Amino acid sequence: MEKRYQMVIIGGGPAGYTAALYGARAGLSVLVIEKMGPGGQMANTGVIENYPGFEEGIDGFSLGMKMQQGAERFGAQTLYSEVSMVKLAANPKQITVGAECILADTVVIATGATPRTLGLTDEEKLIGKGLHYCAHCDGRFYKGKRVIVVGGGNSALTDALYLSQLAHEVHLVHRRDTFRAEKIYQDAVKAAKNVVFHPYTEIKELITEEKICGAVLKNNKTEEEGTLHVDGVFVSIGRKPAAELFSELEKDENGYLVAGEDTKTSLDGVYAVGDVRQKPFRQIVTAVSDGAVAVHEAQKFLAR
Ligand code: NAP
Repeated sequence: MEKRYQMVIIGGGPAGYTAALYGARAGLSVLVIEKMGPGGQMANTGVIENYPGFEEGIDGFSLGMKMQQGAERFGAQTLYSEVSMVKLAANPKQITVGAECILADTVVIATGATPRTLGLTDEEKLIGKGLHYCAHCDGRFYKGKRVIVVGGGNSALTDALYLSQLAHEVHLVHRRDTFRAEKIYQDAVKAAKNVVFHPYTEIKELITEEKICGAVLKNNKTEEEGTLHVDGVFVSIGRKPAAELFSELEKDENGYLVAGEDTKTSLDGVYAVGDVRQKPFRQIVTAVSDGAVAVHEAQKFLAR
């Protein structure tokens, strides 16, 4: 017989397990479907210092486990599996996992977004060893140091500006000479005395001695190469939301699910929380906030 839940949450990161905690604590039958392990992207983060309540910081894996345990304490269940298909307009909603079809009265989508990578050799191995994808998370490790920021969009320029307040020198490496970023950020970058712009430039190779100590930069116009000694590299070339499965829902031009602060998507009873949702600031604290709001909205929907 098909299993039916009042709330099925797809994705077990901070947003997903917060929805699970609030849902289960409110007495709903809740299932979290997670393909890897609790914590999502956060689980790969060495030290998290901007999530309140942990005065010494906490590693992302432990925080993910704690969030899962907190939700399971109130009866939320976890299924480790990958969702292959959803029918969110159906009543009840259908979620296919392997050969099984799970039924749900409400669905919370918490599948996250992954940063785009440069595709360099050993890029994955260097994450946390000088290579970063979140300036607001890891910037403070580079006080008084020299860093590269890659990209030319709003993220790269706001990251370069943020890091320019911490680091001694920021090298903004961009493959073109014009930016996608808004003029206000371009002007601010030009005005920042410790930001050096490298147009038509790409990272060819990362130089390492246990961790990153430099990069080989290549000018894609002149083919000229040079080495820059830096302590860290921040890649800010956009993110890719994990939203391919959800073709029934409205998305924005970057593929994020369209939902406001109430997390309601274009279909009744379906909520988008955390990084997969169109939103201005993607952080653990904003993700957990979404999880709580989604349950608040789902309860109103279920009561109807
Ligand atoms: P984005 O606007 O898509 O910009 C990505 C940048 O990375 C582009 O400059 C692109 O270069 C470059 N890039 C892409 N792939 C690359 C590769 N493989 N190698 C080197 N460079 C590469 O992404 P975003 O800056 O993350 O912004 C995403 C959305 O969030 C945007 O809508 C943005 O406005 C919004 N946002 C807003 C704010 C704000 O303060 N208002 C802050 C952050 C983000 P090309 O230009 O050559 O393609």
